[in-house]
Amino acid sequence: MAEGDLKISTLTVHAGQHHEPITGAVMPPVFQTSTYAQPWPAKHTGYEYARTHNPTREALERCVAALEHGHEGIAFGSGLAATTTVLHALPAGAHVVCGDDVYGGTYRLFERVFRDRGLTFSYVDFTATAPEDAIPEGTAMVWVESPTNPLLKIADIAAIATRAHAVGAIVAVDNTFATPIFQRPLDLGADVVVHSTTKYINGHSDVVGGIVVVKDSEIGRKIKFLQNAVGAVPGPWDSWLVLRGIKTLALRMERHQFNAHKVLAWLGQRSDVKKIHYPLLPSDPGYAVASKQMCGFGGMISFVLDADLPTAEKLCASTKLFTLAESLGGVESLIELPAAMTHASIPADMRRARGIEDGLIRLSVGIEDADDLIADLDAAMRAARSGS
Ligand SMILES: *Cc1c(COP(=O)(O)O)cnc(C)c1O
Repeated sequence: MAEGDLKISTLTVHAGQHHEPITGAVMPPVFQTSTYAQPWPAKHTGYEYARTHNPTREALERCVAALEHGHEGIAFGSGLAATTTVLHALPAGAHVVCGDDVYGGTYRLFERVFRDRGLTFSYVDFTATAPEDAIPEGTAMVWVESPTNPLLKIADIAAIATRAHAVGAIVAVDNTFATPIFQRPLDLGADVVVHSTTKYINGHSDVVGGIVVVKDSEIGRKIKFLQNAVGAVPGPWDSWLVLRGIKTLALRMERHQFNAHKVLAWLGQRSDVKKIHYPLLPSDPGYAVASKQMCGFGGMISFVLDADLPTAEKLCASTKLFTLAESLGGVESLIELPAAMTHASIPADMRRARGIEDGLIRLSVGIEDADDLIADLDAAMRAARSGS
């Protein structure tokens, strides 16, 4: 059977992997080496030096490429290293149109590293601006995150790609939140997908990593060249851990979603919850586009507690199963307060204007038992209100 015929939960287990030919080892080994012996000067096995080629990394790259329906995967040492390398593929002076609600580290990279090197950036709210207005002639690349963080806003990837291609721009989508289990941007018209594999793809909060998947060989050749020329590659152990994590990606995403739905039902009944953000709730402003381009959504929820900042802080500090931490997408549940943590660097009035209220709480719902998670949130809410 060709890989293209297989369903995604089969691909998560098998794609890109072969049994090791000498011993039959079922898992691709960790090729922990920096170089490879050559029988004769300049005659080698295809493996010359490990920045350029590593079989463990290549298994990971083939696997994620298959999950995303892409031509090629190119792995990196972090999500931001992946993003950096995509930006290096642009010519000097290129203009990038970027969603106004992207991951903070992406914004910092664009504004404080690449702007100084001659790229220009404009930021738009893709949920409020038509692609024709958002993407001017002369744009070289459109950078989209959907759903966004922490408000889980949805951009219409197909509509953006149509306009971008009409002006000769390529479209890169950060698919970290949805994962290929629930959204495949290349099928919607994007040219490049970027992941922080640190999050759901690895899923066990024990690796920092990134990957780029490209739709065609031309941009693939450029980014592959840059992977070697710039050198921000992941090590073999981290590649192997991510590959192992992917085996359960489909199962985990289903369970994250199942638990999130239970937590949502509980939050929905509370009178002290003012607003819930989850793109696949019919009441969510992103619902129509989300149900068109996604086939599910995982464990990310954000909601606004009718409370001041100190009460929200106390809630976040009072949970026992939900760990108070940044990051997301691991098997364990996390809670965080964007106004005080991930988004604290945005001035308070700007933050509130963007919908990041003081009582906004973000949950990364893990794969524990949902009833235990709800009991934990319930106890923490009571503790936060008690004032003790
Ligand atoms: C974490 C994250 C990144 C950055 O990835 P690192 O692996 O931390 O470098 C990029 N985009 C999104 C949406 C993220 O959540």
